[in-house]
Amino acid sequence: MDNFSSALLTIDLNIIKSNYQRLRDQLGGKDCAAVVKADAYGLGIKPVSKTLWESGARTFFVALPEEGIELRQILPDADIHVLVGVMPETEEIYLQHELVPVLNSLEQIERWGHRGRCDLHIDTGMTRLGLAPKDISKVPATLDVDILMSHFACADEKDHLLNNEQIAAFQNACHAIAHKRASLANSSGIFLNEDAQFDLGRPGCALYGINPTPDQANPMGNPVRLQGKIVQVHEIDTQHSVGYGATHALQAGQKLATIALGYADGYLRSLSSSGVVYVDEAPAPVVGRVSMDLITIDVTDIEAREGQLVDVIGPHNPPDQIAKQAGTIGYEILTSLGRRYKRIYKG
Ligand SMILES: *Cc1c(COP(=O)(O)O)cnc(C)c1O
Repeated sequence: MDNFSSALLTIDLNIIKSNYQRLRDQLGGKDCAAVVKADAYGLGIKPVSKTLWESGARTFFVALPEEGIELRQILPDADIHVLVGVMPETEEIYLQHELVPVLNSLEQIERWGHRGRCDLHIDTGMTRLGLAPKDISKVPATLDVDILMSHFACADEKDHLLNNEQIAAFQNACHAIAHKRASLANSSGIFLNEDAQFDLGRPGCALYGINPTPDQANPMGNPVRLQGKIVQVHEIDTQHSVGYGATHALQAGQKLATIALGYADGYLRSLSSSGVVYVDEAPAPVVGRVSMDLITIDVTDIEAREGQLVDVIGPHNPPDQIAKQAGTIGYEILTSLGRRYKRIYKG
């Protein structure tokens, strides 16, 4: 898209590269896969996956077979695994595109039959996907399991009791079922301890700059910068209100700037009167409600002019911080990033 008034989204691929390296270091000698579901968490599956491949990643996870098919076009030699499971009449899709299904139930094991290499997900406490531990004894010995996996529910809370319970349950599964590689740790799991790491880390969010250790400083770099354009500046001379619902009162002497970006672009409506945008180095709070295509910020003591770019996401307000302002998590900020932005990939 040409950029006349739209926002600029810059993704620094070198930072994604160094984040991958940082996760490798954390894993010691163990292997590190890359989770690129949901368009690589909103950052663009094509450039991001190519960057991760160049960084040395060979094993990739997506959520859906559709995503696997897309990734196969981008990385013809990658080892691609699909998390959602094998639904009826989709078995051949996996073979056609050389995708490895993660089987989640006895029904899926039966459906997959003798089609060859697959993964097996054991539910160790998340109760979302995966085979119940009581059914482990029913897994046929002939099943060709590449990755035996499970998923943490609370790895971002270092001291949560469920973490060790899940590690123990997964160790039991590893003893009971023949497999080539064992994988339990998402981004946060990689930072828990060595027992959580097994053979293969499975990070997503940390690759994209979300803090995997929320109670400590972020060890990852933020690759995302989103710059919105000021399309009007208002000098307030009498008492007024701003935006839909007239939720925010203004005083004479205040100055507002209107930015061309809104909830249709993934700037969540819950950031109404709580988001903060940076004009150069100065914080400018969002005042009033977020509209579909526009937000208004208070620039009373800040120099601001039409056409100027401001940091909606950037070094001073990374996705995790915006998530706090919006009452959500950084994952949702990234996966909500809009389609109207002009996207620039650095590196
Ligand atoms: C999304 C996902 C991951 C990656 O999790 P992050 O917290 O983003 O690192 C790993 N494993 C499974 C099964 C997932 O669904």
